[in-house]
Amino acid sequence: MGEGGEGDIEAVAIDGPAGAGKSSVARKVAGRRGYLYVDTGAMYRAAALAALRRGIDLEDGVAMLSLLEGVELSFNAAGDRLFLDREDVSAEIRGPEVTEKVKYAARIPGIRARLMKMQQAMSERRPVVMEGRDITTVVLPRARWKFFLTARPEVRARRRRSEMLAAGREVPEAEILADIVRRDASDYQVGPMRDARDLALAGAGIVYLDTSRMTPEQVVAAMLERMEGPSSQKPG
Ligand code: C5P
Repeated sequence: MGEGGEGDIEAVAIDGPAGAGKSSVARKVAGRRGYLYVDTGAMYRAAALAALRRGIDLEDGVAMLSLLEGVELSFNAAGDRLFLDREDVSAEIRGPEVTEKVKYAARIPGIRARLMKMQQAMSERRPVVMEGRDITTVVLPRARWKFFLTARPEVRARRRRSEMLAAGREVPEAEILADIVRRDASDYQVGPMRDARDLALAGAGIVYLDTSRMTPEQVVAAMLERMEGPSSQKPG
């Protein structure tokens, strides 16, 4: 990892499982630091959506790669809207079908390599707060600050349910929990995420944060404290 020495890229890398609260805290940390927020999961989701729309088999690596060559992915300046060929697909990529099928696209090495290049290019243009599954270990191993965020599955399911309720969708908690357990099994197969967790648990350059008993504000404060030291914390 990091042949030229670690920590020399002005960036925050965040990995962790689904529902750990990465997106909301990453966005807040980016806002506080004036960095660009990059949600790499949204890019995998957009690749899956493009395939579903065109009836392409998500497990067909060759077809998936040529599909990705022919589409344009871009974010708005705040990093919270994703455009597929200039169409805002931010809501559609969160739908159940994409959520269920995205893992197939994420398993294709060529797709990972291509999206990684795009992610690294973004981080070269300006400092980023980038979140995903392989950011601390593969995409930006030389990021100055690296975090692994997690929470107990039951806590993540409860949080997800509140988010969904706020968006007007009522789904039983048991169903959400089953989905989280399923997604963990598949995400931890993506080697880098397991590596990120193991390195974080070993205290090897990645900060491990179990947010089960923390509010998002407390998580943001803990991250900024690691980055800036306790004295630079603004009250409130
Ligand atoms: O973060 P989010 O849940 O939106 O990510 C959707 C899926 O994309 C993940 O479950 C995972 O399969 C894949 N992913 C990935 N590598 C990343 C980000 C997401 O494989 N860096």
